[in-house]
Amino acid sequence: MKKQYFLLTGIIFFGISLSAQVNFSKYFIDKSLRFDYIIGGNNKETKVYFNKLKEEPYWGGSEKNLIDKFNFGDFRVSVFDSTGNTLLYSRGYSSLYVEWIDTEEAKQISKSFYESVVVPFPKQKVLIKIEMRNKKNIFNTLFEMPVNPNSVSIIKDKQKKYSVQKIKYSGNSHKKLDIVIIPDGYTKNDSSKFHNDCKRFMGYFFEVEPFKTYKNKVNFWSVDAFSEESGTDMPRQNIWKNTILNTHFNTFGSERYLTTQDIEVVRNTAAYVPYDQIYILVNTDKYGGGGIYNYYNLCSADNEYSGRVFTHEFGHAFAALADEYQYGYEKAEDIYDMSVEPWQVNITNLVDFDSKWKNLVEKDTPIPTPDIKKYKNKIGAFEGAGYVKKEIYRPAHDCKMRSNSTNEFCPVCYKTVLDMLLFYSE
Ligand SMILES: [Zn+2]
Repeated sequence: MKKQYFLLTGIIFFGISLSAQVNFSKYFIDKSLRFDYIIGGNNKETKVYFNKLKEEPYWGGSEKNLIDKFNFGDFRVSVFDSTGNTLLYSRGYSSLYVEWIDTEEAKQISKSFYESVVVPFPKQKVLIKIEMRNKKNIFNTLFEMPVNPNSVSIIKDKQKKYSVQKIKYSGNSHKKLDIVIIPDGYTKNDSSKFHNDCKRFMGYFFEVEPFKTYKNKVNFWSVDAFSEESGTDMPRQNIWKNTILNTHFNTFGSERYLTTQDIEVVRNTAAYVPYDQIYILVNTDKYGGGGIYNYYNLCSADNEYSGRVFTHEFGHAFAALADEYQYGYEKAEDIYDMSVEPWQVNITNLVDFDSKWKNLVEKDTPIPTPDIKKYKNKIGAFEGAGYVKKEIYRPAHDCKMRSNSTNEFCPVCYKTVLDMLLFYSE
C-alpha cells in the first residue's frame, strides 16, 4: 500500500513538473492582466494585501511557454483554472521587499511595498496565487484570489499620452524577447538624447554573448515618458529631482544602488508596448544601477561603466543571476541558510553541488578551487560570491556578474541567459 502511494505521488509530481504547456488561445486573450498588491512585514513574517486588477493592452510574453520551467526567484505567481487543479501560467520573480527583509531595519520595524505582477488575460474565471520561498527554499502560499475576467472592477483606463519608438523590431512579440526602455530624469528637451541613448545602450547589449549571436530574437522598444527635471534623487548629497519614475540612489543605504518604489507608474509606463523586461534608463553620470528578477532593471546613462552595468543588471532581472562579488557581509550565515543550496543558479555553498554546475568541472580541478593562475580559465568553485567573502562559491575566476573588468558571462551564467532567451523566443 505504501509503495503504491509513493508511486502515485511520483506520477503526480512528474505530471506537474513536466506538464505540457497549455494552449494559449483556449485560456487566454492577447492582453495582460495586472495584479497589484501591497506586501508588508518584517524579518519574521510577510503578508500580502490585494490592491487592484488592471487590463493592459498587450501580452508581450510567449504564447507557447506559459509554465515556468526554471524555478528561480523568491516569489512565484501562478494562474490556475477556477477549480484550482489545472496550472495555466506561472512565473518566478523577486522584489525589493525581499531584499529589504535582510536589512537591519527589518529587525526593528514592519514596512510595506507596492508590487505588481503581469499575467496573460484569462478568458474564464481563474485563481491567482502568490507564493514566497521560506528559508528552506520551499514555496509557501502567501495569497490567493479568484478572478472573474468579466468583473467591472477590473480597471480598463486607456491613457494615450506617450509616443512609442520601435528601436529594433525582429518580429512578433510572442516569439521574441521584448525589452522596453523607459526614461527617468529626461525632460522634453532631452528627448533626442534619450533616443540616442537607447540606441547606444542597445549597442552595448549586443556586444555581449549570447545576445550578439541571437540578435534576431530580441525586440527593443522605448516609451517617451519625460520628466519635469533632469537627473535623479541623490539623498546623500541632498539632491532631489522631480522625475516621472521617482528613481533614487542610496537604496537600503547603499550609495550606488539605484531603484524606484513607484512600481505602479513603472508598470503604467511600460504598458504602452508589449514587453518581457522593463529597463529604466536614468539620466545621470553617477555610477550605479539595479536589477531584480522579472521586476525591473535600472542603469545610469552616462557613467564610464554604464555599458557594462547595463548587461550586468540584465543578468539579474532576466536570468535571476546572483552577484558573484563580496559586498558588506562577513559571514554566509548572515544572509543564507547554510543547510540548503541557495536557489540562484550561479552560486553554491557546496551543500548540494551536484544540483549546480559540478557536471561542468573537469576531473583535475579541485573543489573548492584556488583562485590562482592555473585555474584562471577553468570552471570550478571559487570562494567569495553572493555578497560574502567565505563559504559561498562562484563558477569562475571572473564573470560579468562579478566585475566590470570583463564583458563576458562565465559559462554557467552564459548558459542560463541563453536558456532563458530561448524560452522567451521559441
Ligand atoms: Zn557568472
